Amino acid sequence: MSAAVTTTVAFAGLEPRRVDVQVQLAGGSPGIVIVGLGDKAVNESRERVRAAFCSLGLAIPAGRVIVNLAPADLPKEGAHYDLPIALALMAAIGAVPRDALDGVLVFGELGLDGALAATPGALPAAMAANGWNLGFVCPALSGAEAAWAGGEVIAAKSLIALVNHFRGGPAIAPPVRGELIGGESVPDLRDVKGQEQAKRALEIAAAGAHNLLLVGPPGAGKSMLAQRLPGILPPLTSEELLEVSMVHSVAGLLERGQLTRTRPFRAPHHSASMAALVGGGLRAKPGEISLAHLGVLFLDELPEFSPQALDALRQPLETGSVMIARANHRVTYPARIQLVGAMNPCRCGGGPGIGGCRRGPRCAIEYQARLSGPLIDRIDIQLDVPPVTAADLALPPPVEGTAESAARVAAAREAQLSRARSEDAPAMLNADADLARIERIAAPDAPGAALLSRAAEQLSLSARAYHRTLRVARTIADLDGANGVARIHVAEALSLKRIWAGQGGANAAVANVRG
Ligand SMILES: [Zn+2]
Repeated sequence: MSAAVTTTVAFAGLEPRRVDVQVQLAGGSPGIVIVGLGDKAVNESRERVRAAFCSLGLAIPAGRVIVNLAPADLPKEGAHYDLPIALALMAAIGAVPRDALDGVLVFGELGLDGALAATPGALPAAMAANGWNLGFVCPALSGAEAAWAGGEVIAAKSLIALVNHFRGGPAIAPPVRGELIGGESVPDLRDVKGQEQAKRALEIAAAGAHNLLLVGPPGAGKSMLAQRLPGILPPLTSEELLEVSMVHSVAGLLERGQLTRTRPFRAPHHSASMAALVGGGLRAKPGEISLAHLGVLFLDELPEFSPQALDALRQPLETGSVMIARANHRVTYPARIQLVGAMNPCRCGGGPGIGGCRRGPRCAIEYQARLSGPLIDRIDIQLDVPPVTAADLALPPPVEGTAESAARVAAAREAQLSRARSEDAPAMLNADADLARIERIAAPDAPGAALLSRAAEQLSLSARAYHRTLRVARTIADLDGANGVARIHVAEALSLKRIWAGQGGANAAVANVRG
């Protein structure tokens, strides 16, 4: 007898690949055999399918049941193969008509009692189904999420409900898609008293998509500032919203199918494992770096992260994606992040000039040395954040908050995008412009160029530090509504340069240059 077939999907990262689940009743010694490069979760499907059949009072056919997942050379991970296997088996024994399963993509995890469980990845799976002109069959608990894809969705509570549906019983009502929420819960910049330079730096970082490092003693409000970055970033576009939501779907994080236009903000603890940070582990789930895609990855106490973790940041910061090695293949997830790091000036928390450190300059030098040059090179804005004083706290609430800042950021971003459009260049923000482009669009006027070359000499700026300054000056000019980069923009960009411990000679020089 020919095999009964259902269609499902495998993911290479977010990339969907069509998979056929073929079930053949072969006779011979009893048992279910799954072939076709499935992982542990796929193999455990046998037990869940057996239990679900049992709960319906159905016996697994005597003899051998062969489940073939095709194409055979494509690795398959996850528990969503349960339902396509169960339905193909139902078709093989004649419990549902075989042609009922034509034209649908089946996706979902089975509970032992035949109920269907919420299954990570329903959104990209439903979008794949739509792209292949197939209806989408999934658990009711994933229906609100799948409905976002816009195609036909059959979202069932249980295996038996689906069997009845396909046998022409009561039809299952289409699911209602989840809510779309905005930035209701994002904290306001108005809550931060004082810290004017840090708030300005945050706005510049938001405007040009620059990575940012805040260095200051505990209690300076570094986390408070970082948490307010998503509020001043423009909301996700519809395209970006889907991209971000797909990653969150695969991670099983879309509760009740709810999507949000606010950019992601992820703040993993420094003790987070490599798998939690970059992705991987049991089912190649996306890590924090990917969950922060098109949003903010905030790493507090940056030097406390393991050297491997810090090293793993470099690839996503350069390429906008992260590659996870599996046993026999690789998986790529998007990871275009804006990095905000925060750190104490030295290990003990105090710092030179701030009065906390009694252990001398080595305390700061050794602590800061944990950050590699290549990582520091990726951070355009590095800023000292002074402690909050009693006088700051006594200030009235700031007049301006998130709304005002967000408006300036939006205008500055539009200036960057319209410059790219007028040059027929790809749409990009200043942080992503390559060297040739930045040298062209950020070339300062004569006084600005003179200031920059004096600074470069006196501070012995590396070529990379020089370009970082230019990049930031371009964004400051964009915030200023200026076509060209002038001396004042270069001067402010230089004021956002931190002098690292051990660069003592440069301290005096920077004072000269800024004066
Ligand atoms: Zn110290």
